[in-house]
Amino acid sequence: MIQADLVVHGIGQLVTCEAAQGEGPLGLLEQAAVAARNGQIVWVGPTGRWSRRVRLSEGGLLVDAGGRCVVPGFVDSHVHLLWAGSRADEAAARIRGQAFPDGGILRTVRETRAAGEDALVEIGRGRLRSFLKHGVTTLEAKSGYGLSVESEEALLRAAARLAEEGPQAVVSTFLGAHVVPDERVAAEYLDEVCEVMLPRFRGLATFCDAWSDPGAFDSDQCRRVLSRAAELGYLLKLHAAQLAPGDGVRLAVELGATSVDHIHYLREGDARLLALSQIVCVLCPGTAVNLRMAAEGSARTLAGAGARLAVASDFNPGTSASENMCLSIGLACLELGLTPEEALAGATIGGARALRLQRRCGSVRLGKRCDLALLEADSYLEIPYRLGVNLVSATICNGQLAYSA
Ligand SMILES: [Zn+2]
Repeated sequence: MIQADLVVHGIGQLVTCEAAQGEGPLGLLEQAAVAARNGQIVWVGPTGRWSRRVRLSEGGLLVDAGGRCVVPGFVDSHVHLLWAGSRADEAAARIRGQAFPDGGILRTVRETRAAGEDALVEIGRGRLRSFLKHGVTTLEAKSGYGLSVESEEALLRAAARLAEEGPQAVVSTFLGAHVVPDERVAAEYLDEVCEVMLPRFRGLATFCDAWSDPGAFDSDQCRRVLSRAAELGYLLKLHAAQLAPGDGVRLAVELGATSVDHIHYLREGDARLLALSQIVCVLCPGTAVNLRMAAEGSARTLAGAGARLAVASDFNPGTSASENMCLSIGLACLELGLTPEEALAGATIGGARALRLQRRCGSVRLGKRCDLALLEADSYLEIPYRLGVNLVSATICNGQLAYSA
């Protein structure tokens, strides 16, 4: 008998996201059960057989999925988790086609700097609770709204404190090269990023990210930051071709980045380059919608070329203030033209790849962390169909029932 401290049984449709484990590209199992011990999956099989194979420890938790669909906990691989203030007024002005002076990223930078580390932890704690309600069990936390040594450090320290608290796994990314802070000259600011911040924040962030686009940094500036980061042992990410065509994709390939994110514009040959690489293309449909980008062509081209895809919320104050991954999956289908299977895989195992956590999470497999989202639905096909509805009724994170509606 296999010892377990958690059993989820009565799963009508289990989406494993491991093609070899079941039917179709998502590895579907009908009438299934999952058992876990100390947060790790120890058994997956037919629900009618679990009690003959698994011994649930005294005080262990038995969860009845009631014949509904269960998917791997969502892995949101592009998240600006920590910032202060709200830009709802600015978003409304954009919807109305009105100008909004003194808005944008630098407005959030001012409010974030004023907030300080403890307030950011408090804000982040509330946001993590909401992500949990939306079935997100692993997510990224980017800095990038401090843009000074002290404020970037406060953001990274706040993320580390939240990662320590759990229950979700939080992966920290340093995004000092987000934009140029308004009191600084670009070259001099980048000197500080490369020579002060990057060495100092080693150990506080797993990834280093930069934004290559008009209004942010050009590809030479991004190359400088990311090359320095790679020397110091950071893994790399790049925001690229979100607002205009550019050579960000080539730069990401050249530097061996883990992911390249947004890519609303592709240049000739980019999709093939990406498909031949290990780079994950992180698609952020909420942002594409907010910016009214017709990004379907590039997403379909990437999928058609066989590039590795992830689907993320791009939770941020300017262009996508939503942590609803069911919505992101739905928009990935309806706005970017992904199939429901591509979109769901992108929000789970694809997201795990974009955070280099594919051995630990993102699918239902023996030895992986037991992260599950129980849906108020019989099939995963309801996610894009019931557009925008949060179908998550319970979230199991690291083998614990972390949220229940
Ligand atoms: Zn972003």
